[in-house]
Amino acid sequence: MKNYHTHTFRCKHAEGEVGDYMRTAVSRGLSVLGFADHTPLPDNRWLFMRMGSSALPAYVRAIEDAQQRFPELTILKGMECEWASEYHSYFEDVLLGEYGLDYLALGCHFYPYSGGWVSSHVDILDAAHLLAYTKHLVESMRSGLFSFVAHPDLFGLTYRDWDKNTEAASRDILSTAQELQLPLEINGNGLINRLVESSQGMRVAYPWRPFWELAREYEVTVVVNSDAHHPEFVDQGLAEGLGLVESLGLTLAKLEYLEGS
Ligand SMILES: [Zn+2]
Ligand SMILES: [Zn+2]
Repeated sequence: MKNYHTHTFRCKHAEGEVGDYMRTAVSRGLSVLGFADHTPLPDNRWLFMRMGSSALPAYVRAIEDAQQRFPELTILKGMECEWASEYHSYFEDVLLGEYGLDYLALGCHFYPYSGGWVSSHVDILDAAHLLAYTKHLVESMRSGLFSFVAHPDLFGLTYRDWDKNTEAASRDILSTAQELQLPLEINGNGLINRLVESSQGMRVAYPWRPFWELAREYEVTVVVNSDAHHPEFVDQGLAEGLGLVESLGLTLAKLEYLEGS
């Protein structure tokens, strides 16, 4: 199994260093482990849930060290990034250019609303917010910087009931993914840990099943990742996520090209 979405202690809400995740990954029989910790930002915005710019060299070094120490596994250098036009050149020139990262994952954790930035985890409570989230996610996808979209259906955390608004949002995201041939992630952390109350009872917040049922109508590919925030959970949700892919007849993305970049 493969996982392209692993955090480290540097993001301030995960535990473990690269080597700790590696040891567990080896013991669980993973063949590929990609790190995609929360990106630093040049203005150090949202610092409470990401590494500061000064932590970047050590992050990259820790992964490169692990590549030497664990040759039996393919280890990739990635980052999970919130896109905004003002960060585009930093991602392109510094992360992909200067530091030679293998890939960037798009993680839309914040989006612009009513003149400020709000959280995708807590602030998608109504149709207007959902629309703003979707608009920003789609624009971020169009930046051309990303190899896949982490938890595109994150709105399922706070927007509780499936309706015409969630269907419209999902169709916008899915048709953009199809047009760009940009893989969408089924998130293992959400699958295992994120349950919410809806009018139908408890459900998984994300991956939100109706989103992925709708995905069958589009020519999109999917990647299943654990989004691990602790070494113990390096493979969380991978088997379950692959089961979902299988049962819905979705197509897995081919991300092997990242290994040669
Ligand atoms: Zn994320
Ligand atoms: Zn993540």
